[in-house]
Amino acid sequence: MINRKIGVLTSGGDAPGMNAAIRAVTRAGINNGFEVFGIRQGYKGLMEGDIFKLRSEDVSGIIQTGGTFLQTARSNEFRTIEGRKLAHEQLQKYNIDSLVVIGGDGSFTGANLFSVETNINVIGIPGTIDNDLYGTDYTIGYDTALNTVVQAVDKIRDTANSHNRVFFVEVMGREAGFIAINSCIACGAEVAVIPEEQGQLDKVRDCLSTRDYKKKSTIILVAEGTEEGNAMELSEKIKVEFPKLEIRISILGHMQRGGTPSAKDRIVASFMGIAAVEALLDNQKSIMIGWQNEQPVHVPLNKVIKMHKGIPHDYLLRAESISTFIPAETKNILK
Ligand code: ATP
Repeated sequence: MINRKIGVLTSGGDAPGMNAAIRAVTRAGINNGFEVFGIRQGYKGLMEGDIFKLRSEDVSGIIQTGGTFLQTARSNEFRTIEGRKLAHEQLQKYNIDSLVVIGGDGSFTGANLFSVETNINVIGIPGTIDNDLYGTDYTIGYDTALNTVVQAVDKIRDTANSHNRVFFVEVMGREAGFIAINSCIACGAEVAVIPEEQGQLDKVRDCLSTRDYKKKSTIILVAEGTEEGNAMELSEKIKVEFPKLEIRISILGHMQRGGTPSAKDRIVASFMGIAAVEALLDNQKSIMIGWQNEQPVHVPLNKVIKMHKGIPHDYLLRAESISTFIPAETKNILK
């Protein structure tokens, strides 16, 4: 029997499916001879010593719930070497030698530093609705968030159709356009404005200037991190240029983070949690459990935080090719 101790925490923005990952780490850990400790409120709770032993039954009834049962936080103190020393001292009090961090890019930057500075085996599990992490096709929470956006935009379409309106709908994703482009495809929105591409405002202008006056509605999905402005800023510019259009804005906001996790989020999160425990049994350190070709894979944390995951340009072109508005560039490529 191994006598090792794992700490598990969630950090950064919450994402539906995080609970399934916590549950899997706890159960797979205990079943493989580890003691498992929950750490509340991410790195903040770690530095404060908010650590408690998890039993298998403590994670019963959480797989179907959104948010994170361990709660999460953002901590500036952990960005400092002193903060990370404090965190290390707290783990030493419990003889915890392994840490599973469920979070995004920022959380992994901190996790990687912590791993280099200490003897703690740190394993990352990608948990962010943005799906923006290098080395994994999928991040926990993305599927649920995408479906939440699709449902909301379908509702907005009904009201837009009834009033002949143009809607700018802002979705989350930070500097990534995965939610915007894929909800655009799934909702049949006319344009997606994403941070990965230039000249987005021109595309919106072209769409609206060639708009058939009989068209009942136009939906423009805007990712929050675009350089040309958020939905409010873009719509203000467009209102001036197209005074006859009835333009409305809808910012979906935090509703995108909450809600019951989809089956996919629960299943992938469970397999990632199991893979994290298997990686610890294999004495792995400083890796993220990625998801590629429907399988868990190991990706070095320093690679995850250095590299950028982009949206291929031809993916965007294909998405545009089935809209009622097809930009000139896309038409040329399709010929
Ligand atoms: P999400 O994608 O959902 O926002 P995230 O993990 O990227 O998740 P951040 O707020 O960027 O969220 O980071 C979470 C925490 O990770 C920060 O509050 C901080 O404690 C730690 N962290 C972020 N960047 C660093 C860094 N450069 N050095 C040390 N710790 C960091």
